[in-house]
Formats: sequence, C-alpha cells, structure tokens
Amino acid sequence: MSKTHMTIPIFVPHLGCPHRCVFCNQWETSAVRTPPDASFVREKIRAHLETKAASIESVEAAFFGGSFTAIDEALQRELLGAAHGFIRDGLIRGIRLSTRPDCVNTARLELLHEYGVHTIEIGAQSFSDVVLAASGRGHSAADSIDAAARIRQAGFSLVIQLMPGLPGDGPLESLRSARTAADCAPDAVRIYPAVVLEHTRLADLYREGRYEPLSLEDALERSADMRELFAEKNIPVIRTGLHPLAPGETAGVLAGPYHPAFGFLVKARLKRRIIERELAGVLERSASPPSAVRLQIPLREKEEYLGHRGENMEHLKARFAPVHITRILVDSDRPEIIIETAL
Ligand code: SF4
Repeated sequence: MSKTHMTIPIFVPHLGCPHRCVFCNQWETSAVRTPPDASFVREKIRAHLETKAASIESVEAAFFGGSFTAIDEALQRELLGAAHGFIRDGLIRGIRLSTRPDCVNTARLELLHEYGVHTIEIGAQSFSDVVLAASGRGHSAADSIDAAARIRQAGFSLVIQLMPGLPGDGPLESLRSARTAADCAPDAVRIYPAVVLEHTRLADLYREGRYEPLSLEDALERSADMRELFAEKNIPVIRTGLHPLAPGETAGVLAGPYHPAFGFLVKARLKRRIIERELAGVLERSASPPSAVRLQIPLREKEEYLGHRGENMEHLKARFAPVHITRILVDSDRPEIIIETAL
C-alpha cells in the first residue's frame, strides 16, 4: 500500500536541554552536526517536498531531538516561523515537536499555537521517580502527568514517549509506567527501549558494570507487553524501537537491544502470542489432545505471523511438541488465525 503521509524530520540536537540525560546522545542518533536555523529548516522542508511521492496527501514538519519549548524564544520563533511559511502556502499541514515534560506551561503552549503546531510529544520515558532520578532526567512523574494534562487542555494532540529498560527499571515498573501513560489519555505513544550509546553517562555505567541493558529478547517481551496494554485502551503505538541507523552510525551503539527492524520483531512477537494463546486454548479444551494441528494464517500478514526467518513457527513447534504443526496461508482479511485440529 502506498504511503499517504510524510513527516519531515528536523533535528535540533540537545537544543533547550538543561543538561544531558544519562542515556541521551542526539548527535549519535540524529547524525546532525550543526544546530539548525531558519534557512536550514526551509532547505530541509523544500528538499523533502521535492521528493514527495504522488500518493502523499498530508505532510508535516517535525522538530525532534531536543527540548523545543525550552529553546530561547527568539530561536523558537525563527525555526517555527520558517516551517509556518510552508503551512501558509498550503504545502504542509502542520508541525509536531518534542520536548521535556517540565518545560510545558501556558505561555509556551500559546506560542506553539501561533505557528500551527498541532502535536506535542513529551519525553516522559518513565513514570517511576526512582527511574527518572537514576536516569538523570531532572523532572518527576508528576511533571509528566501535569504536562500531559496541559497539552490536552490546550487542544494539542499528545504523544507520550516511553523508554523501558532505563537504570532502576524492571518489567513491573515498565508496565506501571505504561498504565500511567495510558491514564494520561494520549493520542499515541512511542516506545524506545533504552540502548547504550557511546559518549553518554550510561556508557560509563555500563563499562563500570553498574548498568545492564535489556537483552533483545527482554526488550521484545517488555515492548510487546506494553503494546498489548495500549491496544486494550485503544491507544496507537506509532513507533517501537529506534529508527534504523545508517551503517556508519551503528558504531555509536555500545550495547543494548538495538535492532534495525525492532518494530517488526515486536509485531511478530504479538502475532506469535495470538497463535500461542489460541493453540493452547484448543489443546486445553480437547478431551483427547490432537496429534496434529494446522494453522491457517492470513496471507496479508504472513511475515508477522511467521516471524523473522520463520522463527515463530519454530518456537510454536518446540513449545507444543509432540503436536505436529503445519500451516497454510489463506486469503483472509481477518488477522485472527483459524486452527484446524486433525483428530
Ligand atoms: S533525553 Fe531529551 S531532555 Fe534529555 S538530553 Fe536528550 S533531548 Fe535533552
């Protein structure tokens, strides 16, 4: 299916940040080396518009990688003004940006309204004060809850970013954070499991043996748990895992659950859980357990159901042995699977 929406990312690495959080190195993850000004913003937007596919119906500019609302007001106006010119000309629909939860107040939100900002993303990362302190965030969970309420009351779309696996975090804390984030009624969330980037305090802690990142497996399980929680509340998860890094940039990842297709792996894990639960239910309900089952998998989502290199099928065969499992692809719109038991 062709894409109908385009986001033009404009990185403002560490602009407005009062300090560096232990895990953060925007220079490493954004590949931007100079802070932007108005002409940089215009050039960036123009360049993206020139490559816009015919299928694209809506375009937005997105300021990421810093604490936008804490940037000096004159520079905020310069950057937003440059992007707003394209809104006035009908070339882009609006602006989104990310910021710290403790830098959101009424005056700052009014300024964003002036320039056509429609979505504000807050880097809450966790709703545990212990985790926030251990990660050097410099704000509390209450700050994030307050910022979320202000953003919603002011009529912006709200996105909450969460980072499971930070120092002091555990599976229960991550799920508690997800629950609190859901209670803030965001329009969407992003989940970025913590990875250890070079030239960060976290890298020092890791080298000193004082921080252990999540394994890829734990990060997948935890992200899948969080996604299931948000799915129950009908809150879209618009990103899971870092954007794929260019080959030269992966050297900046020292340790942790970075994978270029992390989001796909989590979706495949969720599909595996669907099959596992259905299959376990069928086997439990059978008076005499079947010796063979056949899975009918929707063709449309076969990659996610089968998993990376077919690993979901291998997992199911191992877990449910000695039941013989085969699968066929069916032309179905329904994401559920149909299980046929061979009795
Ligand atoms: S996590 Fe956000 S607030 Fe902290 S240093 Fe990075 S960009 Fe700045």
